Amino acid sequence: MTGEHSDLIREGKVKRVLSDPASPDTIIIEFTDAVTAGDGAKRAEMLGKGKLACETSLLLLRYLQQRGIATHLVEKLDGPRLRCRRVEILPVEVVCRNIAAGSVCRRYGIEQGTVFKRPVVEFFLKDDALGDPLVTPEVAVQMGLATEDELAFIRSVTLSVNYYVRELMRQVKLTLVDFKLEFGRTPEGELLVADEISGDTMRVWDETSTSLDKDLFRKSTGDLVSAYVELLERLVSADTKAVGPRTERIVVEVMPKRGVKNPPGEVTMKALRRLGMKGVQDVRVGKLFVISLDRPVSPALMRELEAMNLKLLSNPVAETHHVRL
Ligand code: UDP
Repeated sequence: MTGEHSDLIREGKVKRVLSDPASPDTIIIEFTDAVTAGDGAKRAEMLGKGKLACETSLLLLRYLQQRGIATHLVEKLDGPRLRCRRVEILPVEVVCRNIAAGSVCRRYGIEQGTVFKRPVVEFFLKDDALGDPLVTPEVAVQMGLATEDELAFIRSVTLSVNYYVRELMRQVKLTLVDFKLEFGRTPEGELLVADEISGDTMRVWDETSTSLDKDLFRKSTGDLVSAYVELLERLVSADTKAVGPRTERIVVEVMPKRGVKNPPGEVTMKALRRLGMKGVQDVRVGKLFVISLDRPVSPALMRELEAMNLKLLSNPVAETHHVRL
């Protein structure tokens, strides 16, 4: 049931996006029972799979929202359907990996199961014709897919999602191997975690390194629906409150505006020259504020930082400020 006045906006491989009769600012995402792999080359229908992916996404998106991560989720509707904010989806897929599996092994010859010392964040261009290639941040910026600051924001939010989901899974003896996120831009220009987070978009291993995710379908190694039931049951039983907050470090850089006299810079420049350093043309001295917080980066936090910059950290007449994530 899709509701009488819902129009189909987009038919995806495993989900439908419908207009929301209740508001132009929201859409309805309907999860189907389709499963696909290899960019649609392998395809099947599995009864109940849509409902499970929907419930898993709902649980994780709600949990992330409770931890301060901004997502597109508004509420659950009847059936395998979620009401979500209407956003413009960025044409980049963001993958975060704790353990090597899948394309990173094929691309670099890294052995599957290798534990990364720090989580790895990768960007992929969403382009079926090109086979969704890996894209470096520099190229993504050149292509106008996102600005440098937006990519830094996306990276920070992705690492927070990784931390909160990984620690939640640890409570129930599951290992988060990797996952894919999509981000959407609101009409106000704010970035939200969008799309789904389910066994279709993650790799999750149980205590025997058995997959509870779409790899079962990709490799034909087990029953996907019963694995998704197990994944959801374990997540439901996990104690969200037992996961402590992740500390976020934000650097605010304040610099004198170009053309504004900067006596400390001039003194330093003279001293460097006096000490024999050759080629020194100019020195500007600014300030750095390193702020540690127990909440993740979000559009609301960025707004607060901007207000604090103007009120307290910088003098907007004589200084520029930049938030580095
Ligand atoms: N992933 C996804 N959609 C994609 C590509 C990847 O949800 O179009 C997920 C995938 O399920 C895995 C992670 O992103 O959890 C990393 O996938 P990888 O780059 O290893 O590609 P794969 O080998 O799975 O195609």
